[in-house]
Amino acid sequence: MAPQLSRSRPVAELHCHLGGAVTPAIMWGIAHAQGIRLPTKDYWEFRDMITVSSRHGRSFDGYLELFHWTELIQSSPFAVERSVYEVVGGAYRKNNVTTVELRFNPMKRNRGGEQDLDHIIAAAVRGMDRATLEYPVRPGLILCLDRAFPFDLNEIIAEKAIAWRDRGIVGVDIAGPESPTFRPRDYARLFRRTRGFGLGITVHTGESGPVEEISEVVEELEPDRIGHGVKAAYDPRTMAMIRERGIVLEICPTSNLNTRVVSGWDEFRWIFDTLRRNEVRFTINTDGPEMLKTYIRDELATLGRLGILTLAEQEEAVRTSLAASFVPNVGDVRLTNLEPATREEVEREEA
Ligand SMILES: [Zn+2]
Repeated sequence: MAPQLSRSRPVAELHCHLGGAVTPAIMWGIAHAQGIRLPTKDYWEFRDMITVSSRHGRSFDGYLELFHWTELIQSSPFAVERSVYEVVGGAYRKNNVTTVELRFNPMKRNRGGEQDLDHIIAAAVRGMDRATLEYPVRPGLILCLDRAFPFDLNEIIAEKAIAWRDRGIVGVDIAGPESPTFRPRDYARLFRRTRGFGLGITVHTGESGPVEEISEVVEELEPDRIGHGVKAAYDPRTMAMIRERGIVLEICPTSNLNTRVVSGWDEFRWIFDTLRRNEVRFTINTDGPEMLKTYIRDELATLGRLGILTLAEQEEAVRTSLAASFVPNVGDVRLTNLEPATREEVEREEA
């Protein structure tokens, strides 16, 4: 067996959507606690509804559709607090994740404006604070703008991030479906302003969209990190740009395979070779561990087993995550001796 990263080695996850990170059983409980009418009364069917499976097929749009129910269920202060609390604690218990940056779009959780955004954000902060009281973790929250939203809605989200910056909101992101109306340059001023307040900038690009968009995002939005960015490997100019600016890629292997953004592990082998050759720094993430049924240590272990990343390179990716985190002072998180497990082991234990 390929050597694996020691489980006593704390890891960081920088790319994790709240809508894809809560265990189905807890989502089920939250839905029922709020009296949400679900399309099924069968738990296993519900589980299938919010996680990837052969039933859904594999595509980018199919993946985004899974968020319909999780975001609806998470659309209240109660649900957001519980979700954040469970994800942060769970990541620590299961995988010794001591630094987790959780991202979500508060406007996709306010029932079309019926719920107050500040209450949603405050609830997320509360969930994070409660987890921090229980475990030696350093979490942070990233607010996601959406490609398909009009500018004025996205501007409100960025302003909320600024207003909550001293309370655990550490950055902003742009996520969501490909949209013909989205132009990075429209956000240049807003992102400059956001950065001016010390918030980190990460942007989803180079995933399902065209490779040309990456350089535009880099020039107009000056991100510290890029969500995915795997397509950058296909353009030497973009590779050089990312290296020169010290931008860190948040690679989510299983997610890219599921959405067919990357065709298979062989293509990933080539992508990682290319990143290495171009000295582009990268981190390994899940995108949404419960929705994609993979934990961060599964991602690292698979890359190790397939000989795509050596143990030293896995360790390097973890170091890069800690260094590139938007959470201040993550360096002093103490070492722990817990025994976090792969997803398979956790499921066996819980069965
Ligand atoms: Zn993502």
